[in-house]
Amino acid sequence: MGSNCIFCKIIKGEIPTDSKIFEDENCFVFLSISPVNFGHALVIPKKHFENIYEVPDELIAKLSVAIKKTAKAVKKAVNAHGINIANNNERPAGQVVPHLHFHIIPRFSKDGDINILAEHHKKYKNGEAKSVAEKIKSEWE
Ligand code: 5GP
Ligand code: ZN
Repeated sequence: MGSNCIFCKIIKGEIPTDSKIFEDENCFVFLSISPVNFGHALVIPKKHFENIYEVPDELIAKLSVAIKKTAKAVKKAVNAHGINIANNNERPAGQVVPHLHFHIIPRFSKDGDINILAEHHKKYKNGEAKSVAEKIKSEWE
């Protein structure tokens, strides 16, 4: 289970990531490689579940705390005007990576009425993701 999963590989360090923000025994938080806005983070369980239907209640409760902490830290780190929290389950709902994840998306007044499912296309330049992740870490409470 999950042996070919890109997020499982990131958790295990098999794919190096310079955008890790937080981890504990249950949760892992890192930056999306293709953000709606810079600071767009993903909160995932360390254990592989494809989507929300099968995740145990105790684990979703722990993930919820990480989601809240991430939302607050991202908002402060990038001076966001708002935060979207999104979770896509199954392809028709926009899920591309089959490992449960929650999007924490900083939003700005200038964004206007964008489709957060369709607009995953900003790119970090060299070193930028690392510095944004460091800034979010510094705001973690
Ligand atoms: P989904 O469309 O499945 O809800 O969202 C997948 C998310 O994972 C998107 O935000 C996408 O940018 C992110 N993502 C996909 N592959 C990678 C990767 O290899 N590294 C990182 N850091 N994010 C990824
Ligand atoms: Zn996985």
